[in-house]
Amino acid sequence: MSIIVMKFGGTSVADINCIKNVAKKIRNELRNNHKIVVVVSAMAGTTNQLIDWVKEAAANVNKREYDVVVSSGEQITSGLLTLALSDLNIYSRSWLGWQVPLLTDRIHSKASIVKIDTKAIKNFFKTGDVAVVAGFQGVNSNGDISTLGRGGSDTSAVAFAAALKAKRCDIYTDVEGIYTSDPRIVSKANKLVKVSFEEMMEMSSQGAKVLETRSVALAMKYGVRIQVLSSFKDTLGTFVVDEEEIMEKKVVSGIAHSLNVAKITIVGIPDKPGQAAKLFSGLAQSSINVDMIVQSSSPDSNSTDLTFTVPETELKFAIDAINKTKFDVGFKEILSDIDVGKIAVVGVGMNARPGVAQKMFESLAEKSINLQVISTSEIKISILIEASYVELALRTLHSAFDLDK
Ligand code: ASP
Ligand code: MG
Repeated sequence: MSIIVMKFGGTSVADINCIKNVAKKIRNELRNNHKIVVVVSAMAGTTNQLIDWVKEAAANVNKREYDVVVSSGEQITSGLLTLALSDLNIYSRSWLGWQVPLLTDRIHSKASIVKIDTKAIKNFFKTGDVAVVAGFQGVNSNGDISTLGRGGSDTSAVAFAAALKAKRCDIYTDVEGIYTSDPRIVSKANKLVKVSFEEMMEMSSQGAKVLETRSVALAMKYGVRIQVLSSFKDTLGTFVVDEEEIMEKKVVSGIAHSLNVAKITIVGIPDKPGQAAKLFSGLAQSSINVDMIVQSSSPDSNSTDLTFTVPETELKFAIDAINKTKFDVGFKEILSDIDVGKIAVVGVGMNARPGVAQKMFESLAEKSINLQVISTSEIKISILIEASYVELALRTLHSAFDLDK
């Protein structure tokens, strides 16, 4: 018996018509003689609405209760889809996280998956065909409902695929796959046939919004083949697979960007060992993701400045966390700027071929685009620039690296 996981995002289940369309897609896949685990998100906009209500209900939000409310969107869609499937005479039933159970740690609102018990679902598959699972939610060792963080149903889907050794994890969404760049900005962007786990990791962590970063990390760890495809069109999507499967290793496969980024500079840090550790431990405790770190020393080399980026939505918390270390670290001041955007050029072939950085910087210089921060990894070069130049920079780099269609 082979199992396929099909995950449907919020826009794919936005209303009853969409849900019926999803039920038909599942019926088509059943014709290939698979058992199917379907993972659903909440209907588009529902989770945002639930979060707004939570915030209106109380000034201090208790995270246990936040999870009780915010997980409910997926409960609705799992039931509705099962109803639509039974209307097509398909033998299915719904499962909430605690019913599976999908066990998480005890961090409410950003829980990590500890274990999925597959016994009950496998047992159901002796007679049943489709298990519809509510994404994004689980249960912790206290018996409390937990959620996995925004976009977490991608992670639910990959985790089920790994636990059940599924043949494939198909992520259905409102775009046709992964593109060389955001097609809304770069009209010449192309759909990729295949992309490696490593490249996809970099692209999603640098701002490509199609897949949640954690889900890609999980897929890479367990070798889960992902396909990203459209709910509304019958076309093949993009496969996210092991690097070995990709014959032609391109120097640049894609260019990601994000405007949800803010730059922080901590000025005048007395130059002695242990300072960065103190500063960043405060940020880590507040679960703030830090990226693009650069340090520069002052001419007299008694003090240093430290610049890094954080998600713009977490800027306030980051500044609070750093301020708490002020006495201990003894820096002069904190500067911040939200008028910035990040662009990352990603490709597994990059580490074998020199000159990528030079080409990137030259093409941006020709358009008089100023680079504020640069950071690199083996398969990525990212830059921070003024927000208003992001679109121009994306189009310029897309052409410079021969990605235009
Ligand atoms: N409904 C949740 C969210 O909007 C989880 C998901 O859709 O992945 O973040
Ligand atoms: Mg999503």
